[in-house]
Amino acid sequence: MQNPVIVCLDLEGVLVPEIWVNFAIKTGIEELKITTREMPDYDALMTRRLSILDQHGLTLADIQSVIDAMGPMEGAAEFIGWLRERTQVIILSDTFYEFALPLMRQLGYPTIFCNQLEIGPTGKIVNYKLRQPNQKKHAVAALKNLNFRVMAAGDAYNDTAMLGEAHAGFFFRPPGHLPKEFPQFPVTNTYAELQEQFRKAGNLRE
Ligand SMILES: [Mg+2]
Repeated sequence: MQNPVIVCLDLEGVLVPEIWVNFAIKTGIEELKITTREMPDYDALMTRRLSILDQHGLTLADIQSVIDAMGPMEGAAEFIGWLRERTQVIILSDTFYEFALPLMRQLGYPTIFCNQLEIGPTGKIVNYKLRQPNQKKHAVAALKNLNFRVMAAGDAYNDTAMLGEAHAGFFFRPPGHLPKEFPQFPVTNTYAELQEQFRKAGNLRE
């Protein structure tokens, strides 16, 4: 008999748009488009982002209202609903609970493991805290240790350790160069394709 299945999903690029990129577009603050591609040091990048938010006087509430208007990707809520009728789902994300909240509301509050922001008395974001380095991979390893069969999907470099740790890992709409570097992970481009891969790999019902 197969162990019970848990599906671990990345958030940004899989269920919701890239939060910082879309936030930069919505607010017109060009400099917030910088990512780990331009600034590989994540700590330096986050420190820069927080100082830009401060310069523009943006509080957590301002940011949450922009994120709220962003909404999940088309079909994401139905996709999560399909999965949750058949198995357990955990979202593993490198974002922050405070940013994810407006999007989680629109996705029916699925379980999410991510990071925390430290908010000052006026609502300003003063700092951030990563719960654990490489948390996606550690979460999958811990679930395997609890005798779950783990399947995962993600779209970027920060997902590849999670995909590799899972019993079955899939790319969802990755940038073109990634599948060349990681040919072991099948590529899916629609929720229907990803559902079919999960269905087969996890023996989920139609
Ligand atoms: Mg992503």
